[in-house]
Amino acid sequence: MQTTIAPGHWLADDAAASYRRMRAAGCPAGITSAGRTYAEQAELRRKYLRGEGAFALPPGSSRHETGHALDLPRDASAWMERHGGAHGWRRTNPKEWWHWEHFATHDTHRHDPVNRKAPHMVIIRAGSRVRAVCGDRIVGLDVADVARFEAAGVPVVDVTPSTFEQFRNGLTPEGVTP
Ligand SMILES: [Zn+2]
Repeated sequence: MQTTIAPGHWLADDAAASYRRMRAAGCPAGITSAGRTYAEQAELRRKYLRGEGAFALPPGSSRHETGHALDLPRDASAWMERHGGAHGWRRTNPKEWWHWEHFATHDTHRHDPVNRKAPHMVIIRAGSRVRAVCGDRIVGLDVADVARFEAAGVPVVDVTPSTFEQFRNGLTPEGVTP
């Protein structure tokens, strides 16, 4: 089974639970690439072979396809160098500082609870209109309930009406990282 860990990104359930624990433990937000379909891996391989993209394994052989690999930005990778090992994450290619793979048997936190409060949930608000964004799902919300969520630690972001419309259309505008 797959779990959405951020808008447009998924991992296998065990790796996703680990990622959520790491985020709760201080891993900086931001994902370059996570789970991929066979077709997505094939496209990256074609780009690599054409000289247009970074190295990519042939489709059918990447752990991105099982949802057990993450490509992370610099700051998150630096955090992983110090803390990822205890969570079962290994850098499997020394030339790719961004690429991490999860090995559940090495995850010393695998029995730890995962924070039930979705770490990626954020409420967007434009005047009296509100929506909850959770992963890549956008759900309606009664404005009267916002205070209750805010008290529970869910961030509330005031946005312009046009940004609000972008969210309504299922897009995550740049510069807003739920
Ligand atoms: Zn990768």
